[in-house]
Amino acid sequence: MASSPDMSDLIAQNLAAIRHRIAQACEKAGRAEADVSLVAVSKFHPIESVEAALKAGQRVFGENRVQEAASKFPQLRDHFPDLRLHIIGGLQTNKALEACQIADMIESLDRPSLSDAIKKAAQKAGRLPELLIQVNTGDEPQKSGIPREEADAFIETSLKKFGPKIRGLMCIPPENEDPASHFRFLRRTGDRHGLPVLSMGMSADFETAIAENATLVRVGSAIFGSRPVPQS
Ligand SMILES: *Cc1c(COP(=O)(O)O)cnc(C)c1O
Repeated sequence: MASSPDMSDLIAQNLAAIRHRIAQACEKAGRAEADVSLVAVSKFHPIESVEAALKAGQRVFGENRVQEAASKFPQLRDHFPDLRLHIIGGLQTNKALEACQIADMIESLDRPSLSDAIKKAAQKAGRLPELLIQVNTGDEPQKSGIPREEADAFIETSLKKFGPKIRGLMCIPPENEDPASHFRFLRRTGDRHGLPVLSMGMSADFETAIAENATLVRVGSAIFGSRPVPQS
């Protein structure tokens, strides 16, 4: 299936514009462009949109739901063996096996029960994705992520359990707050534990995140347009 030329062009243009803004933000922050990777968040968008992004050179993608990721990405790997899939949404323990089978990185490790499930699943799958610990920097009850207070202890036990597969931290700041202080909190926490990866910043605030040392920025709507209603 091919996407309409208009949609493909638009996605390619959007990607070019985002890459340009990332480059500018890096320059402003005195950082190397190569140190920031763009995760294109394709949740709720059809496989044709993902293909358009792949054809425009994008290789790293983020999906919230394991089921949806499984319906799009394994087939694309045949043609694009170097694509990378990140699971970025809250993960149920009963989805851990499928996540280990299909993902290159799980960005949402946030509780001991999920650590146990991933450990077991990885043994069964013969494959352990890279892991980020999601920190609920705003301590919002409805949001995934380890609470701020518990973050240091959870990072330590996770490092003991998974070693260098724990690559770093991820956060989603509260919607109506200045994100910079949340990004800074994540950065300091990562520094304390010597973790190299910080996944932070979305369409509305990725430049702020780059100024605070983000190494992964997760951009959805600014690339693929506003999201269609999920088909579940
Ligand atoms: C949807 C989503 C994004 C992308 O959000 P946009 O505002 O569309 O860029 C980033 N991170 C997570 C965890 C998401 O769920």
